[in-house]
Amino acid sequence: MLTVSHVGRRFPSGTEALRDANLHLREHDFIALLGPSGCGKSTLLRLIAGLDQPDSGELIWENGPPAAGDIGFVFQDATLLPWATAEDNVFLPLRLRGVARDRGMPDVHAVLHRVGLKGFERARPRQLSGGMRMRVSIARALVTRPRLLLMDEPFAALDEFTRHKLQADLLDVWRQAGCTVVFVTHSIYEAAYLARRIVMMTPRPGRIDREITSTLAHGPETRLDPAYASLVAAVAVGMEKALR
Ligand code: ADP
Repeated sequence: MLTVSHVGRRFPSGTEALRDANLHLREHDFIALLGPSGCGKSTLLRLIAGLDQPDSGELIWENGPPAAGDIGFVFQDATLLPWATAEDNVFLPLRLRGVARDRGMPDVHAVLHRVGLKGFERARPRQLSGGMRMRVSIARALVTRPRLLLMDEPFAALDEFTRHKLQADLLDVWRQAGCTVVFVTHSIYEAAYLARRIVMMTPRPGRIDREITSTLAHGPETRLDPAYASLVAAVAVGMEKALR
């Protein structure tokens, strides 16, 4: 889908956020970008989203640059319109593309149901819990059926129980939607639980250091699975080496 080739980004402040970053994204990948705060994860995500431009290197899209709606973005904060209902928040990207409300609503409702919000279509953000607001945010990112879903520490502000539930549900959503996910996190446990490819970054300047591939099988007991414990250990050791 995308090759990130020798990408560098230095901000006008002088901070070299990325140096010689290389990454190949394939269809249906689930990639975690893992590393400590400040190692350039968000910078790389913003470059992939087209929200920022590299100073060196290039991003090579296999089928040409993505169109509006091909990429969905989910931030750490749900960033919902506080006065608008869940369905109107999710409808927004369609509205911005000129879709009429009654034509868009079936898709809006389908995606709200998919993220577990059946019955909450008319709720406003303040009537929803933090986890539910994040579900609305994910639904809004999915409503245009993006090929690529970019997520920047989306669950970092949630309590651990809610986070675990959203992680499990995100995997279901990813399998159904068939899109590629790039998920930024500084949690080893989260990266190991979610991703098929765990890409480790080191700071100053940010580089992609190594990658671990996961074949973890997911079920209700995944977090108790010795295979999950070994994967967490392997990622922790990998990160230790990367940061040495
Ligand atoms: P991460 O997502 O891994 O926490 P970031 O990509 O946000 O890291 O930041 C990488 C480095 O670049 C940090 O040192 C950060 O302070 C710096 N940085 C990020 N964005 C900007 C910006 N717009 N201007 C200047 N420096 C920035």
